[in-house]
Amino acid sequence: MIQTDTAVAISTPRGEGGIGVVRLSGPEAVAIGRQLFCSQHPLGQRVRRVEYGQVLAMGQPIDKGVAWVFAAPHSYTGEDTVEISCHGSMVVLESVVAEALRLGAVSAGPGEFTRRAFVNGRLDLLEAEAVIDLIQAQSKGSLDNAYGLAGGRLSQMVRALKARVVKGLALIEVGLDFSDQDIDEISRQQLRAELGEMVAEARNLADTFEGTRRRQDGYLVAMIGRPNVGKSTLFNALLGEDRAIVTPIPGTTRDRIEGLTTWSGEAIRLVDTAGIRQADDPIEIAGIERTTQALSEADIVLAIFDSSVAWCDDDRVAVDRLPSENVLVVFNKVDLPHKLDRSKLRLDASSSVDISALTGLGIDELKRAAAQRLPPRHDVGGVGITRQRHYDCLWCAIRSGESAAGLIDAGEPDECVAVELQAGLKALGEMLGEGVEEDVLDSIFSDFCIGK
Ligand code: GDP
Repeated sequence: MIQTDTAVAISTPRGEGGIGVVRLSGPEAVAIGRQLFCSQHPLGQRVRRVEYGQVLAMGQPIDKGVAWVFAAPHSYTGEDTVEISCHGSMVVLESVVAEALRLGAVSAGPGEFTRRAFVNGRLDLLEAEAVIDLIQAQSKGSLDNAYGLAGGRLSQMVRALKARVVKGLALIEVGLDFSDQDIDEISRQQLRAELGEMVAEARNLADTFEGTRRRQDGYLVAMIGRPNVGKSTLFNALLGEDRAIVTPIPGTTRDRIEGLTTWSGEAIRLVDTAGIRQADDPIEIAGIERTTQALSEADIVLAIFDSSVAWCDDDRVAVDRLPSENVLVVFNKVDLPHKLDRSKLRLDASSSVDISALTGLGIDELKRAAAQRLPPRHDVGGVGITRQRHYDCLWCAIRSGESAAGLIDAGEPDECVAVELQAGLKALGEMLGEGVEEDVLDSIFSDFCIGK
């Protein structure tokens, strides 16, 4: 699909003040840009130069700024592109866009510039999708992964898988073209080996999905303890804000409250659960049920105890609910005299931390100890797949590779093997965006914001 329109949009986040950038991309970008921006040297006349000048609307100056041109095909989109950087006032930015529309540009849709980059072969679909991941990254960990994807690391791996399938197909086709028999035994073994490698590598990549998705969404850290041990105070201290209501009345947190933070560069979804204790109140029982649910889903459980009071039956109720793994015991209120008999918990030293949620003592140590318990990163060459689409394409290739191998082992005709390999090749090609239907692209790019 060749774009004949010139698209325009504000490329910087809205309403943040500071600097704003309006981007135009398409065949008329420079012509329209010159009417929007008046500089000593007309836009695009000097190659790779940033021009200083006046931003115009209806021929009248409305701001001063800088602008530059990227000539096709050496631009993000692969088309002529003009970017005008001016003051980030929405009035200025919207006036520039309105003027560009009046001069014949069209409003860019969500992700339109990245979509044009994909259509013009500047990015493959995996790299284009990674741009969304980059923009939406909530942690350094997700950002690193997105950066690797956007830089083409996954694309290279998928191309290597494709190359193995193509090699397999070539082995078969040589046999089909030059003899009236099936391929010889050496080629057959070679083909079998290529397929084995392809399937193993594709599986490794597919296996990264669950871990990458968890990582992107944020690891779930659930806090549990009987009422009044200081869960809400700790929740607020860990998030650095007053999200949970802190009161001295036991049982105030009736439902789970969730907050997002980062520990050691990883996104964390922190959940403050209803206090666990023997309860009769139906609302409290429902809250405790949700706690049990959160515990079963959690990557890490922080089991909180009040070190300033003696052990009580409700502490035992909390202990009985603890999962067998990934528990970090937190002794809170160590700013007060210690009264809790810790031997009841039979802990080794490394599985507990002493803190005061009220004074902040030990909070950094708690974050460090918890971060060490996060699930190990599972990636291949530093990248993990982030989308169901990738997973489905890889599994389609895996199944084709496995059934092709089965057909070879069963001595079935080479034509049947070739059909399977073609299916695998198609799936891997689709992963890179080859032959992908427009409606699939619509759905992928609808996740973008306008201006990217
Ligand atoms: P929750 O029911 O487990 O959520 O407990 P809260 O966070 O509501 O705390 C119960 C009471 O303990 C409140 O009065 C808090 O101010 C107090 N508290 C919480 N953490 C500490 C702490 O580290 N030291 C002291 N001295 N008091 C604390």
